[in-house]
This record gives sequence, C-alpha cells and structure tokens, in this order.
Amino acid sequence: MRDLRNTPEWNALAELRRRGVPVETAAGLFGYSKEEVLRAFGRWAAVEKKKPKVAKDGTTMCPRCGHEAWPVRFGMWVPQPDKPAPKAVMAGCVIGPDEPDWACQNEECGYEWRVDSVSRAGHDGFRDW
Ligand SMILES: [Zn+2]
Repeated sequence: MRDLRNTPEWNALAELRRRGVPVETAAGLFGYSKEEVLRAFGRWAAVEKKKPKVAKDGTTMCPRCGHEAWPVRFGMWVPQPDKPAPKAVMAGCVIGPDEPDWACQNEECGYEWRVDSVSRAGHDGFRDW
C-alpha cells in the first residue's frame, strides 16, 4: 500500500485540505480513493457555508446523508454520575486550524465539516465613517 505522504501530490493535497475542499473532490483530482486520502490525513474537514440548524440536544443533521451529526468539542469529557454523556465528539486538547466543527455519526458517511460563513472575498461591505 503506497503512502500518500511520499508522493509529490502530498503538498497539493494538504493545501486543498486547508481550503476545505471536500475529500472526494481532492482525491478525485489525483485519482486517489477517498479512503486512501482519509487514511493519510487522519481527518479531513470540508467547509460548509451554511450554518447548521442545531437541535435542542446540541446535534445537527449531516448535510450529506441526513444522519445525526455531533459537534466536535475540544478537551476531555470527564464522566459524571448524574449527567448523561454529551452528544459530542471529543477531539482532545490540540486545536488545529483545520479541525471540523461537526462530525456525522453515520459510519458509512463519516462526513466532517466546519462552517465558514465569513466571506473570503474580503471586507467589501465595510464602510468608512
Ligand atoms: Zn453523513
């Protein structure tokens, strides 16, 4: 099994990941399978423009498959006897810039995404006094 980290496309893939390009798209560009790319990167969060509608229990709906998706929280969950475990994915203590905000709980889907509602076009709407 080849390791994508040793390929010349690695840097290009990393850049696509940073930009939040969906993993299927990035993998397809280089003729790799989605699984192969995911294995090499560990996580791959796509970017969704739309803010998810959050349910009362803090979950949302996967934009891909409609399954329940959980928020990704940083830090560790300490079990408490009087509280049920939260519906959240614990991502540990390290926060990277490309970490997902949400993770689909459907194993076959596995979609992870972050929401980027800020326009990358700049501050055109900004007005001077
Ligand atoms: Zn899903």
